[in-house]
Amino acid sequence: MKTHRTGAAGNCIFCNRAVAGKSFYSANGFSALYNIAPILPGHTLIIPNRHYQSLTELSETELGEMMIFARKITAVLKTVFKCDGFDWTIQDGESAGQTVPHLHLHIIPRKPLDFPESNEWYSKIPVNESQLLDSQQRSRMSDHEYIAITALLAEACKTNIS
Ligand SMILES: [Zn+2]
Repeated sequence: MKTHRTGAAGNCIFCNRAVAGKSFYSANGFSALYNIAPILPGHTLIIPNRHYQSLTELSETELGEMMIFARKITAVLKTVFKCDGFDWTIQDGESAGQTVPHLHLHIIPRKPLDFPESNEWYSKIPVNESQLLDSQQRSRMSDHEYIAITALLAEACKTNIS
């Protein structure tokens, strides 16, 4: 799969204001965005607001803040989607399957038997990454559904994150 390398934030979908404006929670330089084509209900992306391509570019302070931010969002997702587990995954680098060159952590809430094989989500990540870039492939969620889930999660964050 070809990576869309811009070398800068210019053409980055996560630096694009229209996309960044869809986040349901932002704090301390990080944002949570609902995945436009969720692999499972609740599938969310955590991104730094600044354009970093790799986890290795974060300072130790930023790395800590990202993990703390992601843990808070995970707790909200587990409550809203009534899940008892979650997967976290970062595709860091082209060889690892990163197609959007802006660091992003996938949070996938899990329930017993949501997939026949518990690690089945992993094989779905490459297609999901391409759905983030290619609007032709975004068929699973309507704008109306997306706005509704974003509003619901924004409200849940307001209530559950102090
Ligand atoms: Zn970016």
